[in-house]
Amino acid sequence: MSLFADVIVDISQESLDRPFQYRIPVDLAGRVGPGTAVRIPFGRGDREITGYVIGTGQTPKIAPERIKEIAGVLEGSVGVEARLIALAAWLRDFYGSTMIQALKTVLPVKKKEKPKAQTILSLAAAEEEAEKSLALFRQKHQNARARLLEALIQERELPSQLVTRKLNVTAPVITSLENMGLLRKTVRQEYRNPVHVREGGRRSVALNLAQQTVADQITKAWEEGNRKPCLIYGVTGCGKTEIYMELIARGIARGQQAIVLIPEIALTYQTVIRFYRRFGDRISIMNSRLSKGERYDQYERARKGLIDVMIGPRSALFTPFPNLGIIIVDEEHETSYQSETSPRYHARETAVRRGELEDAMVVFGSATPSLEAYYKASRGIYTLYTIKERAQKRALPTVQITDMRKELAAGNRTVLGRKLRQELEECLAAGDQAMLFLNRRGYAGFLSCRSCGAPVKCPHCDVSLSIHRGGRLVCHYCGYETRIPETCPECGSSFLRSFGIGTQQVEDFIKKEFPRARVLRMDLDTTREKDGHEKILAAFADREADILIGTQMIVKGHDFPDVVLVGILAADMSLHASDYRAAERTFQLLTQAAGRAGRGGREGRVVIQTYDPGHYSIRAAAKQDYEEFYRQEILYRSMGGYPPSGAMLAVHGTCEDEAYLGMAMGYLKEFLDRLAGKCGAGIIGPAEETVAKINDIYRRVLYVKHSREEVLTFLKEKAEQYMEINEGFRKITVQFERC
Ligand code: ADP
Ligand code: ZN
Ligand code: ZN
Repeated sequence: MSLFADVIVDISQESLDRPFQYRIPVDLAGRVGPGTAVRIPFGRGDREITGYVIGTGQTPKIAPERIKEIAGVLEGSVGVEARLIALAAWLRDFYGSTMIQALKTVLPVKKKEKPKAQTILSLAAAEEEAEKSLALFRQKHQNARARLLEALIQERELPSQLVTRKLNVTAPVITSLENMGLLRKTVRQEYRNPVHVREGGRRSVALNLAQQTVADQITKAWEEGNRKPCLIYGVTGCGKTEIYMELIARGIARGQQAIVLIPEIALTYQTVIRFYRRFGDRISIMNSRLSKGERYDQYERARKGLIDVMIGPRSALFTPFPNLGIIIVDEEHETSYQSETSPRYHARETAVRRGELEDAMVVFGSATPSLEAYYKASRGIYTLYTIKERAQKRALPTVQITDMRKELAAGNRTVLGRKLRQELEECLAAGDQAMLFLNRRGYAGFLSCRSCGAPVKCPHCDVSLSIHRGGRLVCHYCGYETRIPETCPECGSSFLRSFGIGTQQVEDFIKKEFPRARVLRMDLDTTREKDGHEKILAAFADREADILIGTQMIVKGHDFPDVVLVGILAADMSLHASDYRAAERTFQLLTQAAGRAGRGGREGRVVIQTYDPGHYSIRAAAKQDYEEFYRQEILYRSMGGYPPSGAMLAVHGTCEDEAYLGMAMGYLKEFLDRLAGKCGAGIIGPAEETVAKINDIYRRVLYVKHSREEVLTFLKEKAEQYMEINEGFRKITVQFERC
């Protein structure tokens, strides 16, 4: 039984630096743990205030006689603070981290900024006149002006922030419309982020039968006491977002609030504006570009009940709503839902836990569900809802596969197979747009030696340097740059050749072969500047280019109605990643990429180029058949004992000293092996990570496999204790990850 409790008196990250220790009275023993709200005497006058327990222990930190006693435990409805602290305790136990790290993940940074003056843009001209100007802008191809004016005609009022960040309209464009008398700027003092609605501007569509059925079944199950998370597996465009909004609206009608998680890359103007039309300025958006102060303000507005819906990436999951009713995780399969810093939590699992603590409904949605989610659905842990038809009855695109080995045999050594070249010619001749997707996931054109075979690597990271224009070699991990060497750094041979293709090479090739086509390229290089990503997408949407070439960035969540052809170059590249999820990622990327074709009325065409045309992930993606893919993939996973059919824990170790790291990880493995024998767990490694060194820091990983999660939690705790008492481990950094 713990004797003392660490209590914070204010729920914010800063207060974590100074918790106060209190004695747990005997009559409260066993009732005090992380998240318990307590009454405590505080300050000189021992005024009784509320505090939150963040941890308990046996050791007094100051003279025991100076430690005051907890006066009582707050009964009845505890606040959201308590539930968030309980969530942090779960994060610590399940994912492995310190309690402080876990609390910092769930609690907002308190940083009050002066309320920002918010500039609102409103339509200043009569609608008729505005429509005339709009037609004129379109005629003159003044796309940015047209885009802004069109949005204003629709919405009447828009916050300038949303306009510049999401519509990609620059300040001079705004000024020009202002000078023409089409637009008026007004400044509001209070912080009203990020959207404002005009009354009566709200819209909602009537659900179709499939959507209505799913929404009703979910509501009914909930009312009957079924607390299982729901998975909506529905093809792209089936109208999942409309279902989410319906469920949210029902929650709001009951006085509850909602969290909607959307991967940041899919958090586009189109998405935000849909929620805004439905819920007006009762919504807020969270994104990584908000400053700490802005974030804090958003959390505060949520806590005070000024908003009903928070939309954002992973971190929006911790919004402190007083009466959270529903958590939605859209595109639940996205890798960005996994945190990369300790605690390395996954938003899907964490949403389920928060849902339990809040008694809130949890709904996942995807067109290509993660193996984990679909597996749970197939075993009845989640309830599955399937929608196979698009809301606006549009046919799926036709897909053709090109075997690139045959192209090579026929003497075609270029990146374009004959089929794709022909389709591209026809597409351009018809005046349509095309997207060329280079599936590389981290593979780039690199240089290697013909004599000794060694690739030219970064001196600080264990990766090949990528070839860039102008004779440069660049490291994509640390930014190291050098000129292409004359001779091999390993053996001195002067026969160096480039391998693989990068987006730049594809762009050069396409420009040479199709000199009249206008080409845009989107990759790490072209999107580095602020909003670079959205600028390119907006330019392509405005038809400023005929062909968009890019990496996986171009396949997520954007609608380009004029794209008829999608070409997938080197579809199998991601299959060769040394990761048991490689086939799943490949299937998801290909399906998403193929789904970009033919959004607006016309039938889409897709050409998949591959060296491995027989692979099930490629065949299933070509047929857009998730279930077939799942059947094959789950077989492979269960044979290998990989998640989701078994549980797996990764132990990542990093250190500047390679030999030391190897030794320490070796000891850890020995320790785990001794325990694992007793409980039937398997330990693999330690092995080098896929990238074995980044920025001169070495990286090793151990995998622990077992069929049950609890056994992994047990082993993780033992490992943490072992490292705690052995000083040798201080020199290395260890992070746990649930796979
Ligand atoms: P998903 O999220 O499943 O990809 P969306 O919710 O984005 O699908 O819907 C795809 C398109 O179909 C959107 O343009 C949306 O406005 C439209 N849509 C969805 N449901 C309906 C409906 N019931 N009636 C009319 N249009 C709809
Ligand atoms: Zn060499
Ligand atoms: Zn590097």
